[in-house]
Amino acid sequence: MNEVKSGTLYLVPTPIGNLSDMTARAISVLQEVDIIAAEDTRHTSILLRHFDIHKELISYHEHNKKDMAPKIVAAILSGKSVAQCSDAGMPVISDPGADLVKLAIENDIPIVPLPGPNAALTALVASGLDARLFTFIGFLPKITGKKKKLIETISIMPGTLIFYEAPHRLKETLSFLFQSLGDRQVVLARELTKKFETFRRCLLSEALSHLEVETPRGEYVILVEGAGENVKPMAERDTISWQEDALRRAKEMPIKDVARQMAVEYHLPRREIYQFLLKEK
Ligand code: SAM
Repeated sequence: MNEVKSGTLYLVPTPIGNLSDMTARAISVLQEVDIIAAEDTRHTSILLRHFDIHKELISYHEHNKKDMAPKIVAAILSGKSVAQCSDAGMPVISDPGADLVKLAIENDIPIVPLPGPNAALTALVASGLDARLFTFIGFLPKITGKKKKLIETISIMPGTLIFYEAPHRLKETLSFLFQSLGDRQVVLARELTKKFETFRRCLLSEALSHLEVETPRGEYVILVEGAGENVKPMAERDTISWQEDALRRAKEMPIKDVARQMAVEYHLPRREIYQFLLKEK
């Protein structure tokens, strides 16, 4: 008890599918604050009822954040304590909160973030991919130009790339990642913390073949292996053709390994490189 101080903003994560993941501290803070700012008040009311919390809720979401952030900050400056939460997981992470945090900082308001559920990190730790170095992307931009620019920047990054995606766009996004990054290892972490939690670990091409026969359902985190050590920026790569490069490398290592390495670097299907080398050697 007495978790909460007046004039403070609390960032409170909520479960991403399993109510038992609500922390004892999150419950205390929600019980004790003066106001809870929720992304969807109806959604959060259900959570609060489950934990027998009866509290004033105000709405703070993508579409009213410009109006609401200054109002929430004014309430905090007048001495109120406010907890902000989104529908699920960590506020701010692909969810509302960033504007409020910035404005609170500008107004010297203390911010207390609570640790708790988050889909990206939950997926990463069980993915088997590099968890020492990783980049969180979240949802890719919808505008094609912005999306291409971003993928170009991240295509040469080492370390795991973490994306969020809605099930109805999963196939389109995996196809875009395959075209842009080559046939890399992917992990599809589905329905984390829920009854049908599954991890599919395979190549992007295999994930795409699988989606030809299975309709994606539920929530997904997509994790893609980072660029290999030998990756070069596009501009440098263009000085010789990939075929020439492949033949050179095949003098020093098995063609299976050349195909794997170059698929990542050149954003080409591994099979295409392998077949080319089989024919030429
Ligand atoms: N703030 C949240 C967090 O901390 O993870 C993320 C919210 S974002 C609007 C929703 C996206 O997160 C989903 O489209 C999905 O990609 C991912 N996600 C959320 N819950 C998930 C779950 N239980 N299993 C897999 N992915 C999940």
